[in-house]
Amino acid sequence: MADLSTDCLGLRGQRVLVTGAGGGIGRAVVERLLAAGSQVVAVDLPGVHCPAGTESIPTDLGCSAAVRQLAQAVGGADNPLHGLVHCAGITRDGVLWKLSDEDWDDVMRVNLSSSFYLLREMIPLMRERGGAITLISSINGERGKFGQGNYAASKAGLIGLARTAAREGGRFDIRVNVIAPGLIQTSMTKELPAKVTEAALQESVLGRLGTAEDVAGVALFLCSQLARHVTGQVLRVDGGQLIA
Ligand code: NAP
Repeated sequence: MADLSTDCLGLRGQRVLVTGAGGGIGRAVVERLLAAGSQVVAVDLPGVHCPAGTESIPTDLGCSAAVRQLAQAVGGADNPLHGLVHCAGITRDGVLWKLSDEDWDDVMRVNLSSSFYLLREMIPLMRERGGAITLISSINGERGKFGQGNYAASKAGLIGLARTAAREGGRFDIRVNVIAPGLIQTSMTKELPAKVTEAALQESVLGRLGTAEDVAGVALFLCSQLARHVTGQVLRVDGGQLIA
């Protein structure tokens, strides 16, 4: 990977919290940030292995009390928090008339409630010096997706939440943005039926599927001072799967 430590990102020494850090996109974001010289706090479920070179704090982000504890641990450090990239997320697919309460609740809790818990706890930690927050939505949160009513609703909700946080955080120089990936090749999508992957490939005007690194590059940009005037935006990283 290119050495970004000497360029104009302004991330050297900055403390950034990355969730889902043991997963495909989260891990790639961590690697980008480490290459840029950031100090990374890596969060994933207990038992999930996070990348080396990070401070790992295992947390179930779908639990309000656990996120509060996480904020206490992060807030107690000498180096105040500059950034948050929230990549943790799950799918529990099924057509609406077969979706169980549990599959609905789990997806809303892990994808949407976690985002609220994190914003509520982390914004106060950034208020003095400003910061950059990036939430990971999905193009399916914008367009809906057969078999993903719970997931699409959670990812759509996240956009309204982020835009509100951008309005509330602006006066503290806290920027809040959303990345909406298309189909990205990670463990989340590797079990998808071939016809779903093929359909995504057909939709991509670039004629390829995205990688975790494609998303991580944009997350790095949004976290950096290059994006200092960008807030309240939804940035698609989808190879043009959804052009509207
Ligand atoms: P991934 O490889 O499955 O990574 C997600 C990570 O989140 C996993 O390490 C997972 O741990 C962790 N996690 C799950 N529940 C958690 C909880 N309650 N607390 C803390 N961590 C938890 O998936 P990915 O593809 O990198 O996805 C990252 C984000 O991008 C997600 O929000 C996803 O919805 C979004 N996204 C992905 C795609 C795609 O095509 N891959 C497209 C659009 C949006 P476990 O592995 O133990 O569950």
